[in-house]
Amino acid sequence: MPLKLALTGNPNSGKTTLFNILTGSNQTIGNWPGVTVEKKEGRLVSDKSVFIYDLPGVYSLSPYTSEEIIVRNFLENERPDLIINIIDASNLERNLYLTTQLLELSIPTVIALNMIDIVKKRGERIDTKELSKMLSCPALEISAARGTGIKELINTIQHAKQQKSIITDYLKFDIKTEKALYDIRRSISNDGVSLTRHELIKIFEKDNKTVKALKINKAQRSNIQKIIEKAENEASDTAENIIITQRYIAVNNICKKCLHTPASGKKSISDRIDSVVTNRIAAYPVFILIMAMIYVLSLGGFSKSASEFISSGVFKDGWFLFGIGAREYAAELNEYLNDEKTLSLNKPEPSEYGIWIPGVQSMAKQILKTVNCNSNISSLITDGMLLGLGTVLGFIPQMFILFLCLSLLEDCGYMARIAFITDKILSRFGLSGKSFI
Ligand code: GDP
Ligand code: MG
Repeated sequence: MPLKLALTGNPNSGKTTLFNILTGSNQTIGNWPGVTVEKKEGRLVSDKSVFIYDLPGVYSLSPYTSEEIIVRNFLENERPDLIINIIDASNLERNLYLTTQLLELSIPTVIALNMIDIVKKRGERIDTKELSKMLSCPALEISAARGTGIKELINTIQHAKQQKSIITDYLKFDIKTEKALYDIRRSISNDGVSLTRHELIKIFEKDNKTVKALKINKAQRSNIQKIIEKAENEASDTAENIIITQRYIAVNNICKKCLHTPASGKKSISDRIDSVVTNRIAAYPVFILIMAMIYVLSLGGFSKSASEFISSGVFKDGWFLFGIGAREYAAELNEYLNDEKTLSLNKPEPSEYGIWIPGVQSMAKQILKTVNCNSNISSLITDGMLLGLGTVLGFIPQMFILFLCLSLLEDCGYMARIAFITDKILSRFGLSGKSFI
């Protein structure tokens, strides 16, 4: 029997790195139907009957982004045999939020605490045994980049293949929330319907898709409505926010018990930067400052001159080799253009000032003139097409610098952080933090 295994975790938690180790080079890349996000599928090197899926990185299973929808649909509909929840252990708290949601799916789950090398370098320690106990599922430490802990992970996968049932339990919320969930379950399961914890919470969060899929009847619906309203009134918050808060409390509890930071409390440079750029208040001015710097870099100075060089030099009139003579020529030309009254000066000839290389447009003009081309057609080619092409290509330096800056921000993890910070605000409008940029 083949085994389906889903790699799930936050963006940048090391999914693809682990995927490549587990599958070797044996991978195919395809698109999910209807969306442009990639899925990767491969087979375990040591056991070809184990299929591994590298799912897109997500921070939660709430259906706000296409990535979240893909992951949720895959897990709900395809129901893999095993979820490997890969966690960036150096950001335990943020990563465990998704874990709380995955555990509710009633799918066997193994937690891989990745980037354990960073945790150790910081002098921190994670009590993996305690973590495993609190989450009621196996957890092990790995470093995908260094290849440590991979053997143990593969053993666990093989173990899952034989047993097909790793006991997985979910995290409990506070009494009031649990009571509401219990009441909802009771008002439905009288019909003999058995709900997963995930479905139950989705009903509490008023998720229409789940309510429809479960074919909940009208009487039950109005009953559930009352239970939710009561919980909302008691907490003076929306049902969705109640669950979010409960998840954060649960995660915070786990971190308090399982994450041991060194007593000296000396922070690494990376941590210090992190505490500024993800600070609730400072994050926004820092973000505006960084974006302003990118704006200036990509539109001013160097890229502006490069852009002018392409659009009015290479594609229009021409340019001086190595720029020699450019300044003298420009001064003479300026004098000539300002000399409206006397008209005593001759137009300066650029080739007298340095090695002048004619631009594409002026060269084309010359050629079309020598072949006696119709003036309208000649104008269409030179003043229309070539000039237009030059103007468009003139944006290349600006685009290059802009995208270079953005991908640098993406790679150093800043984008993920700003998305995390803005997620809460934007989720009110049904958007994800990523839409901020
Ligand atoms: P994905 O977005 O979850 O697919 O993450 P990637 O596999 O692309 O990894 C994100 C970054 O983390 C890459 O630069 C990896 O080299 C790095 N990375 C992955 N695993 C580890 C690890 O165990 N330790 C360290 N220090 N870096 C890692
Ligand atoms: Mg990836």
